[in-house]
Order: sequence, then structure tokens, then C-alpha cells
Amino acid sequence: MTDTVAPRPEDLQVMFEHAMREYPFESCGVVIGAPGDPARNAVIPCKNIQRELHERDPQHFRRDADTGYFMDPKDLKNAFTRAAREGLEVVGFYHSHPNHGAYWSAEDHRAAMWADSGEPSYPGAFHIVISVVEGRAREARMFVWDGVSGSFIERAV
Ligand SMILES: [Zn+2]
Repeated sequence: MTDTVAPRPEDLQVMFEHAMREYPFESCGVVIGAPGDPARNAVIPCKNIQRELHERDPQHFRRDADTGYFMDPKDLKNAFTRAAREGLEVVGFYHSHPNHGAYWSAEDHRAAMWADSGEPSYPGAFHIVISVVEGRAREARMFVWDGVSGSFIERAV
């Protein structure tokens, strides 16, 4: 597909630094850009409010921020506003896995889907997962929606 966009090495660097800053908690964020024009990519780190949610309502938010993330809606809204203002769109998402590999988890799949519709919320977006071990970013892997198989598949990054 020619209308997708992938993160550049410098985008991954921003994600790595954010992931290491937040360690041992998960980091998360959005990438806005123009499909087909990676030069316009902008990585927007978002605050992970999973810990606050977990402390307020542990029944509903079972995971703490070391094994989960919830992007601050304010940061997300700002990212969408900035994208609209600059003629861009949301092209990707990222989050980290402290002390775990950069795999696509069942929880990641659930979070990327539009409720129980069987459809992804952002079919054209890439998802980067970063493994952080002992405070150092070790690896990034990218997952994209594959309409043929109806699942997320790994794409070389
Ligand atoms: Zn994950």
C-alpha cells in the first residue's frame, strides 16, 4: 500500500527516549503525519494515566502502569487538534513493554480494535511496541492491520 507511512529512525529514537524516561512504567503516544510523506511525521508522547485509573478503580482498571497504558484523553485531543490544524492525520501509535519483549499482546489487539466490531479503530495506522529491559530500549517491532487475515501482522521496521 502506498498510502501508509512508517516511522523514520528519528521517530523511533523519540519513542525510545520516551520509553526509557517512563521506565519501569509503560510509555505511550501518537504519531501524526501525512500518508506517503514520512518527512512530515511528528511523534507526540502522551501521558500514561493507567496508574491513576488503577488506583481510583482497581476493579475496572486491573492493570497498573507497569503492565498497561491509557493515553491521557487531553493529550490525545491535543494531538488530533494539532493534526487537523496542520493538515495531518493520526498515522501511528506506540507504547512500551517494560521488562517484556516487543510482542503484540492480546491486550494490544483489544485496545486497537473498535469495541467488538471486529474492525480496527485506525485501519491504516501502524503500531510500534518497544521492549525496555533494565531501563534500556532493546527493540521496536511494528504491527499493522491486515484486512485479508483480519488480524495485525508484523511489518519490518
Ligand atoms: Zn502492549
